[in-house]
Amino acid sequence: MEENNQLAYHGGAPVRESFLPYGRQFIDEQDIQSIVQVLRSDYLTTGPTIQRLEEELAGYVQAKYTVLFSSGTAALHAACYAAGIENGDEVITTPMTFAASANSVLYNGGTPIFADIDPDTYNISPQAIKSQINDKTKAIMPVDFTGLPCDYDAIRSIADEYGLTVIEDAAHALGAQYKNQPIGSLSDMTIFSFHPVKHMTTGEGGAVATNNLAFYEKLKQFRTHGITKNREQLLDDHGPWYYEMQFLGFNYRMTDLQAALGLSQLNKLDDFIRRRKQIVVTYQESFQHMKTITTPEELTGYESSWHLYVMRLKHQHLYASRRTIFKALQAENIGVNVHYIPVYYHPYYLQLGYRKGICPHAEQLYETIITLPLFPAMSDGDVADVIEAVQKVITYYSKRR
Ligand SMILES: *Cc1c(COP(=O)(O)O)cnc(C)c1O
Repeated sequence: MEENNQLAYHGGAPVRESFLPYGRQFIDEQDIQSIVQVLRSDYLTTGPTIQRLEEELAGYVQAKYTVLFSSGTAALHAACYAAGIENGDEVITTPMTFAASANSVLYNGGTPIFADIDPDTYNISPQAIKSQINDKTKAIMPVDFTGLPCDYDAIRSIADEYGLTVIEDAAHALGAQYKNQPIGSLSDMTIFSFHPVKHMTTGEGGAVATNNLAFYEKLKQFRTHGITKNREQLLDDHGPWYYEMQFLGFNYRMTDLQAALGLSQLNKLDDFIRRRKQIVVTYQESFQHMKTITTPEELTGYESSWHLYVMRLKHQHLYASRRTIFKALQAENIGVNVHYIPVYYHPYYLQLGYRKGICPHAEQLYETIITLPLFPAMSDGDVADVIEAVQKVITYYSKRR
């Protein structure tokens, strides 16, 4: 028995032989065949498969339109452009996110303003948003951290009061619901990512969902160099070959090969999310009684789609630092991670003039969090390994009273 309890970090046998990543894709034969079909067809890019995925995704998230992009980051860049973000404009966002959220504001010449999180939900606090609003504020960019929706009634009422656009970064929240409304149907624009660790994948890829026709047209044009062939939008007409580049866009197109994978993945999305929830139920049941960690909160009216499972260490009950516990879990072959380093801690942001200390709740959260593996392809054995490793490591470092 003693042998098994020795931490792998100290030379003992690890809980599992092979490394379990924190997230990864689920690909089956149907996905592969779906891509092969497009390879044999006339269009490898900007063909009928793109349009089909855009329609089906819009149906899934209950939005009028979706526009696919080459990545979630490209989708964020396009959404900020469509919202008219430019030099001098401020966009209020959370520091508890991947750098791409705030970066997309910088791409457009705008200034990201970081508002602190709610210490219980880890999502941006509506009160903190309100305290950052001034004449330069143009938009709010909430992020549904880990898949848990933000408080959209509160955010909508702030946006309406001050005439702001809501650009929702829902890279974690495809399939989530806020008060029985799907994420994608709530904000002026909602961004999704199809990176392999996200809810469904196209290799790389992203989308913007919107109900606004003007945004929809801007997004489509931005995706392809700012070029339009739409007769009603042209300023001139030299003949049937004629098109115009009307603003500086990018080549941010997704290929039909990727869209074919997306269609096939979308068919399985509900199963993927069901499996994520099942794993989370097992984690919650296994960890709830542990006094040394805080498990993620579940709120009534908020239906998370569980991109990430983030546990919080209670340092007052532990001997070891987060660094040691993290390394010890890694040594057990559990692919732990930390989501996220507050965005403004990065040297690039510090160099722009952001200072540590501006969002104390996010900074305190950062000191204590560890992300555990969570993805639909995990077997029950994988889930049991994670639980065993957490209990083994945390018990070892617990202070006895
Ligand atoms: C993954 C992610 C993105 C970026 O998406 P990509 O498709 O990787 O470009 C943006 N924001 C958040 C919160 C993400 O998790």
